[in-house]
Parts: sequence; structure tokens; C-alpha cells
Amino acid sequence: MRPLAEVQAEILAAVPHLGVNRVPLGEALGAVMAESLIARESVPPFANTAMDGYAVRAADTDGASPAAPIRLRVVGELPAGQAPTVAVAAGEAIRIMTGAPMPAGADAIVMVERTERVGDDSVLVQVRAQSGDHVRPVGGDVVSGTTVFDAGTLLGAAHVGVLATLGLSEIAVHARARVGVLSTGDELVEGPRRLAPGQIRDSNRPMLLALLADAGCEPVDLGVARDDEALITRRLERGIERCDAVLTSGGVSVGDYDYVKAALERLGVLRWSQVAIRPAKPLAFGVVDATPIFGLPGNPVSSLVSFELFARPALLQMSGHRVIHRPEVAAIADEPMLRRADGKLHLDRVRVRVDDSGRYRVVRSGTQASNALSAMAAADGLALLPDGPGVEAGDELRVMLLRAANPDH
Ligand code: AMP
Ligand code: MG
Repeated sequence: MRPLAEVQAEILAAVPHLGVNRVPLGEALGAVMAESLIARESVPPFANTAMDGYAVRAADTDGASPAAPIRLRVVGELPAGQAPTVAVAAGEAIRIMTGAPMPAGADAIVMVERTERVGDDSVLVQVRAQSGDHVRPVGGDVVSGTTVFDAGTLLGAAHVGVLATLGLSEIAVHARARVGVLSTGDELVEGPRRLAPGQIRDSNRPMLLALLADAGCEPVDLGVARDDEALITRRLERGIERCDAVLTSGGVSVGDYDYVKAALERLGVLRWSQVAIRPAKPLAFGVVDATPIFGLPGNPVSSLVSFELFARPALLQMSGHRVIHRPEVAAIADEPMLRRADGKLHLDRVRVRVDDSGRYRVVRSGTQASNALSAMAAADGLALLPDGPGVEAGDELRVMLLRAANPDH
């Protein structure tokens, strides 16, 4: 059995980097920037008001207070979206709405709440303004000519907003991986039809397709292949042609019908490992024509854990991600999580919550059998239990978070 870290490192060293695409902003979410972005415009593009109120000359408001307001003559009104046509001269003010450009002559805004309008053409200012009050300067957000985002930035919703504000309609990003998913097994059937004796439904393919979508990849359904070495080889070859990577499930352990291993061997690329982990001990891996193939184990929990540990980091790296691993945190076990020493790292499915002092706390999410997918679905993370007797209630352990801690737990 090989240590987890060694197998992970071998895979990360073997997978290629995908190319660069220009994509419309609508497809940028979750992609990684391939070039750094230099702003060609400033944001905001003009000085404007952050408040509804009056644009004034700050010096005119010297000494103003609620008890001794200062009267200014209102010479105009300026909503957002209009260019100023009149300037503010001494003793004057312009009624102005949030986002409207600062009129010439004015250097401060007095909030409407600090004023009292008298008639059509006068306003009483009850506060002394400082030059710059409530004014958003040109380039206060982004200065033209500066780097906005470095190459390697993972684009979230706010990034998309910044790109739009700078007038960009497309952006150079690392390509998303197109990833095929093939299930193998004579016992597998799909959908609601009645199961014949010995049959089960294919859960891995929909699950792996969903995991890929969640990782920002483009999933490609390669269907189910029967346990037939030549058939599996052909289906793999088709996947290799169409995809940047291929995931299979089943057929990689030491059973007599484990033909994924055999197919990879026939393609001349098999690297088969028994990884010192539980679940997900067997893994077949190989790269054909720069297309990595991940032969994941068949048991659904093993399939998911193997995807998380081996495929997901590799696929993220291929798509230019800088952060490829799930976060790992220290947590307290709320119950004993005992195990037998067997030379493996155990990855127990756990519910994670944060207690009142902000510490992560975990309990097992259900039965730990590697076919029990419901306990996986209930889990927020994988507790990493190193070889040995496990942990007692109250002990600290490491947890790999698959999603945010759940306050309901
Ligand atoms: P194998 O590695 O092919 O021997 O499969 C190990 C276990 O996982 C067996 O119990 C299979 O029936 C089960 N299995 C394999 N593939 C799938 C699948 N796509 N969905 C659900 N269970 C599967
Ligand atoms: Mg099988």
C-alpha cells in the first residue's frame, strides 16, 4: 500500500495544463483568469455624490449648526445619469441625487437629512461640511492603468461585476476540463425500471457528473459499459477522443471481472495503486494522449472519496486553479471515533458544526460502510483518522471540509 500523499503527488505531476479560452462574461463564473487584467478606465469614471443632498462649497457652510443654519440659494437639480450644466458659485447649492456627477464649483455634499428646504430656491444647511464630504472621487474603486486582478484569480460573482464595470465583454481564462464519466458493471441498470435479481442502479455516474459540475468542469456522460475488456477499452478510447479527462467507476480492485485495470493495461498506461486509505483503497490511473484516466473504485462512497482525493485536485490544477485542495481544519470529536490499526488513513464521513466558542465539532454521519451513500450525503466533511486506535470523545482531529459547517447539526 502506498501513502496517500505520494499517490496524489504522482498524479498532480502527470496531468497536463489545459489551454486558454476567451469566454463571454456570462461563462466566466468559476473560471480562472489566464492573464492579469489592467484597467483601461477608472471606476468611478467621474467624481460623484455618495448621498442624496446638496452639492455645496464647503467654505460656505462655515459655522453652520442646527441652531444657526446657513441659507444657500438652490440653483439647480441633478439626478444620476445627467451631466451638470450649471456650476455652484459662492452662496449657492445644487440639489443632487446619489450617483450624480459633482457639479463644477462644489467640493462637498451635505446630506439631505442635515438640510431644510425653504421655498423653491433656498435651503438651510444645518451642518458644517468639510471639503470632500460624501464625494466619491474618480478612480476611488479602480485607477486606470493599474492591475485589477492577477493571472490565476478565481472568478466569483463580484469579479464578474468588476469586469462588467470596466466594460469588458469577454475574458481570457484557463479552459474548463471536459470530463467523461463511464460506469462499468454487469449489475448496473439505470432509472426506475424494476430490478432483476442481482441488479442494482447506477448511482456513481449521476453522482460523478454532479461532482464535476460542482467543480466547474464540463461533464460528459459516457454511459454504462458491461464487464467486457474489449468493450471498456473501446468506450475509454472514445472518451479519450472527446474529453480532457475520463473518470470510470468499478473494475479496479482485485476481483476476476476488474476490466478497467485490464483496459488501461491494454492501452499501455496502467498505474495501479493500493492506496493506504479507507475507503477508496484501489485506484487505477493512466494518461493516454495527454488525457488522464481515473479508474475510481465501484463502491459509491469509495468513488466519491477517490474523486475528492485524486480527481478533483488534478482537474482543478489542469484548469489553472491555485487552490486545488479542500480546506482542512482542526475539530473536536463529539463522540468516540474508534478504529483498528490497519496501516491506513481512515476518512470517516462526519457532520460538522461550529459550537458557541467557534470550534468545529464532529460526529459520524451514519454507517461507515463504503456502499452507504446516504451517510455520505449527510456528511459535511471527512474526518482524517491516522493509523492507530482512533480518537475518544473530546479529542482533537483533522477534518477535510466538503461544504460549510451546518448549524442544524
Ligand atoms: P467493483 O469495483 O466493480 O467490483 O464494484 C464494487 C462494488 O461497487 C460492487 O458492489 C458494485 O456493484 C458496486 N458498484 C460498481 N459500480 C457502481 C455504480 N456505478 N453504482 C453503484 N454501485 C456500483
Ligand atoms: Mg464491477
